[in-house]
Amino acid sequence: MKIVDIHLHLGHCNVFDLDTPEEALMGTIEKNKIDAGFVQPYPGCPDVKKTHNDIAKLMKKYPKKIFGVVSLNPHQDEKEYNAEVDRLIKDEGFVGIKLHTIGHAINPLAADAKKVFEAAKRHKVPVLIHTGAGIPFALPSHVIPMAQAYSDLPIVIYHCGMGHVYSTEAYIAAKLCKNVYLEGSWISINEKIWLVGDLGSERMLLGTDLPENTGVEIFQYKSMNLSDKDLANVLGENAIKLFKLKI
Ligand SMILES: [Zn+2]
Repeated sequence: MKIVDIHLHLGHCNVFDLDTPEEALMGTIEKNKIDAGFVQPYPGCPDVKKTHNDIAKLMKKYPKKIFGVVSLNPHQDEKEYNAEVDRLIKDEGFVGIKLHTIGHAINPLAADAKKVFEAAKRHKVPVLIHTGAGIPFALPSHVIPMAQAYSDLPIVIYHCGMGHVYSTEAYIAAKLCKNVYLEGSWISINEKIWLVGDLGSERMLLGTDLPENTGVEIFQYKSMNLSDKDLANVLGENAIKLFKLKI
């Protein structure tokens, strides 16, 4: 059974006071037998170009194991934003684009957020959106109009709104929009049981966010009494299909 973690970070974060050096990242990947991990800079990264380049180097060092996700502040010149996205996806093989609602102070409904959706559409890669901490920008319901406007674009709601209050909104977004997928880091096992049971195992993907949470998230899914097929979908198969991974 393949394990793909679609939410990992490398480097320092001035917004959330976090730091994940390469040793911590690769340590949790090895310890938890992750077959492939998606790595992105934190939103408060002091030098985002350097961190994206560090991730590109890791992709070369660990081919078919590390996949980069672009995470850029959309409140910048459109040409510069697009040039960097194009470089990372076309030249370096990054597989998705993050929209960090709180870290980059960007409402998915704001004019600048269109840069993210348009770039993802152009490159045919999914958009991954932070939800939860940072409400109102981070409300999962804010994803719905964009998921409807970009109905061919796969959109992953990171964190499912974080916690019992807002996981219902993530559920509604996924229920209304077939192109919305959920990543369940920081929600409880009971919410995961409900979401997978109601929406189906094809809509939920493993993501763990911080190295100390990787084993916890995997253990939760393994404790849900899912069938082998449903567990395989959530832990890796959905990500392999959605991101067209060759692993
Ligand atoms: Zn994160």
